[in-house]
This record gives sequence, C-alpha cells and structure tokens, in this order.
Amino acid sequence: MFEDKNTSKTPLGNLGEFALIDHLTQSVKLHNKSSVLGIGDDAAIIEHSKHQTLISTDLLIEGIHFDLSYMPLKHLGYKAVMVNLSDIYAMNARPTQITISLAVSNRFTLEALEELYEGINLACRNYKVDLVGGDTTSSTAGLMLSVTALGKASKNNIVTRAGAKENDLLVVSGDLGAAYTGLQVLEREKAVFKVNPNSQPDLTSYSYSIERQLKPEARKDIIDLLDELKIIPTSMIDISDGLSSEVFHLAKSSHVGFHLFEEKLPVDPEVNLICEEFKFNSTTAILNGGEDYELLFTIAQKDFEQIKNHPLLTVIGHAVDKNAGCQLITGLGHQIELTAQGWQSFKDKEN
Ligand code: ADP
Ligand code: MG
Repeated sequence: MFEDKNTSKTPLGNLGEFALIDHLTQSVKLHNKSSVLGIGDDAAIIEHSKHQTLISTDLLIEGIHFDLSYMPLKHLGYKAVMVNLSDIYAMNARPTQITISLAVSNRFTLEALEELYEGINLACRNYKVDLVGGDTTSSTAGLMLSVTALGKASKNNIVTRAGAKENDLLVVSGDLGAAYTGLQVLEREKAVFKVNPNSQPDLTSYSYSIERQLKPEARKDIIDLLDELKIIPTSMIDISDGLSSEVFHLAKSSHVGFHLFEEKLPVDPEVNLICEEFKFNSTTAILNGGEDYELLFTIAQKDFEQIKNHPLLTVIGHAVDKNAGCQLITGLGHQIELTAQGWQSFKDKEN
C-alpha cells in the first residue's frame, strides 16, 4: 500500500510516524496478565502486585554495537531483545514486558524495519514477553535501537551481584568464547568480501560460533532449572563483556576474590579449532571475548550435589578471601592474576 513503484521497497517517508508504528506493531499480542495496557496510549500500564519489578535498559548504535554488513536485521531485533532479557534473568527474575525505541535514517525502508520487528516479535513469542510501547524517530545517520525490559520476581528470590561468600562455588552455564570466535569469522569474511564480492564462503564448520554471535539465547532455561532444584544463587551476573570482567564485578560487589581453574572452563570444540586457525589462545577468547550471554553465579557448597554433573552447568572455581584477588589457576598449576579486559565503550578502539 505504501510501495514505491520504482524500487518495490518502501521509503519511510511514504508513511507518517503513526502509520509506521501501527504497521510495525499490528501483530503484537500480549501474553502476560501483568500487561494491563499495551501499545496505543500515552503510557503502558503494568501491574506486578505481589512481586518486585525489575527494569533494565540497553542502547545499541549502528557501527559501535552492531554491523549490518553481516548482521541481518531480523537477527539484530532478536539479539537486542535477548541482551535485555538476559539482564533480567541474571537477577533470577522473569522478564514480562519490553519497550523498543528506534531512531532510524531514511536509508532504511519499511521492509527493513519489518525484518527488524520480525526478530523482535519472534523473541517476544519465544520468551512470552510483551511489547508494550516504545518511541520512533528519525536519525541523520544509521540506526539506533534502545530496548527496555521489565521483569518480576518475589523479593526473596532476587539475586544481585553482591552476596557471594568465601568458599561459595563459581558456576557458569553453557560454554564460553563462541560468540567471540563467531565475530572473528564474520569480520574475516567481511574483509574477504570487500576484496572479492563474488566470494561464496563456506561457513559450515563455523556454524555454532556464528549462531552464538548472531542469534544468542537468554538463559531462561537455567532460571527454570535453578527454580526446580530450589537453588537460589548467592550472587549472579550475565556474561556480556567476557568472563574475566564479570568475575571482577561479582568480586567487587561481594567483597571476595575468586580462584578460577583454566581446565574447567567450558568450551565447544569448534571454538578451539577456530582459535587454532586464527592463532590465538582459547583461554584468552573465553576470558575476554564477550557476548556469550551465559549466566555466571555462585552457590553455597551445600548445593553442589544438586548441580554436580549437570550438562548445562560447570563449576569453574570458588570464592576466596578478598585479599587473594581474582586468580586463574592454569593447567600446570601456575596462578595468573586475572585482568578485567572486558569490552569498555570508552576505550579508543572499540569492537
Ligand atoms: P507519544 O507521542 O505519546 O510519545 P507515540 O506516537 O510516540 O506517542 O506512540 C504511540 C504508541 O505507540 C505508544 O503506546 C508508544 O509506546 C507506541 N510506540 C511508539 N513507537 C514504538 C515502537 N517503535 N515500537 C513499539 N511501540 C511503539
Ligand atoms: Mg513518542
């Protein structure tokens, strides 16, 4: 209906702001009772009567946080939601609503934004989260996307970064480093493509890593599992910037140190192969590569029996006295002081 006859793609200028919002949000369905009023008024109404409400927000800028030359818009939409849901899960809470704010240049067409919203809507369906509002505006260059997630939890279940005690076990879900190796592969293919636009890369042997980079999943399943096992972690954080810096966050907030065992760090074999190919150390990729969106948490020793040998969980170390700092114990038994080399947005070279 809005189509430009010459290109078959629809410039955003063909629609007003309201028509655009209506178009993008027409298929939105609400899943949660707590979403009393969704899109369409001046504000949404949320009711979390007996629970505490959690809120977390993230801003993603084209060229800094994502690169559309290898990130399909549908994946970007999905990932932008996941990143926020992950923050809510990391509090041992359940996400219930999100809002999406967009600034978009006229380089984008309606079809491009439809793709973005396909990813957003898919994430909402998969995680039973309601899109209840947002804001839409034009930008002079590129795409900016801000997602805010709301969640709920009963007060006694909420887990913060503070609370780890000496001798608590440090546990991580899933495996680490793959989002980083996936990014390396995609960056390399982008460089190859610049030189030879006809190249048809065979990426099958990198598929796990690329999927981890482009389509991460927030670990709802781990929060369900902890609930089933009746384990409340003593502290928790999600891994967005890399294991090393997240360990430091837990250490700082909880006033403890940590010993991590290199040999225990969970890694997919594909990650090891890619590290060999790129000639970098896989432990470095695990410690400093970010975006795995796994959960890192501490539990009391008494809960160990329950999680021992669970395929989704690995004990990678334990909390020690604050004065001992954060140490990596290598396979040969050497202690290396960890450094927080997670991604820092104000460093000169950004990834
Ligand atoms: P206002 O002028 O009050 O800010 P808007 O016209 O910006 O209202 O928004 C109208 C409705 O559409 C509101 O419910 C708002 O939350 C929602 N909305 C606006 N932009 C988006 C978007 N990009 N995604 C989802 N909902 C949106
Ligand atoms: Mg508005």
